[in-house]
Amino acid sequence: MDGSKTPTTAPVLILLGPPGAGKGTQARMLEETFGLVQLSTGDLLRAAVTNGTEAGQQAKAVMDAGALVSDDIVIAILRDRLAEADCARGVILDGFPRTTVQAEALDTLLGENGQKIDAAISLDVDDAAMVDRISGRFTCAGCGEGYHDTFKAPTTKGQCDKCQGTDFKRRADDTAETVAARLDAYHAQTAPLIAFYDAQGALARVDAMGDIDDIAKTLGAIVRRATA
Ligand code: ADP
Repeated sequence: MDGSKTPTTAPVLILLGPPGAGKGTQARMLEETFGLVQLSTGDLLRAAVTNGTEAGQQAKAVMDAGALVSDDIVIAILRDRLAEADCARGVILDGFPRTTVQAEALDTLLGENGQKIDAAISLDVDDAAMVDRISGRFTCAGCGEGYHDTFKAPTTKGQCDKCQGTDFKRRADDTAETVAARLDAYHAQTAPLIAFYDAQGALARVDAMGDIDDIAKTLGAIVRRATA
């Protein structure tokens, strides 16, 4: 590696918003529509926990408590993932950056690659609704499709609409008690990034309390404009 990477114009999008805002759901829809790669630091950290890596071992207790994993660990994980070949198609960052230190590290990383952020989209929601959204959510263990006990149950009970799998899982930190800590962490450490990206001229705000497909259409229009 001599550090002289070829500049790329692959899109870089960021989804901001508290836990439960729908970042993962919308990122997956954008991934399908635009052929981009969803990068969820939450998913990468959960994989590290499952695989028992050193980072995973350090992160587990912090995640279970609803606090933020240290910037060093998360930045290292994200940097490694961004260097993988598929990311050349363009990425949607879901759950990263979550602190100003991470946002600055991301700007540096992208700058080294001749890239920049095309849009940072804030999904605006009411905190009060997030507890219900999170405590009822689950995913297909096979394909990762997201569901909710009340708002988005599988069409056939117990069977994934997408891959027909019958195995589902719930996250260890998706409990009412942990959600409060995660919302506090969002407001204290992540919400300041809204002003950070506004100052860069990259911010878009979307009301994310409505219908999932309507929100996806709004996001699609923002992405088209930002990457035109
Ligand atoms: P959500 O946004 O729904 O809370 P995520 O799957 O994005 O869920 O993250 C789950 C947990 O992983 C967070 O509560 C935090 O402990 C950790 N985490 C994920 N991304 C980051 C990050 N960028 N910085 C620090 N911790 C993170």
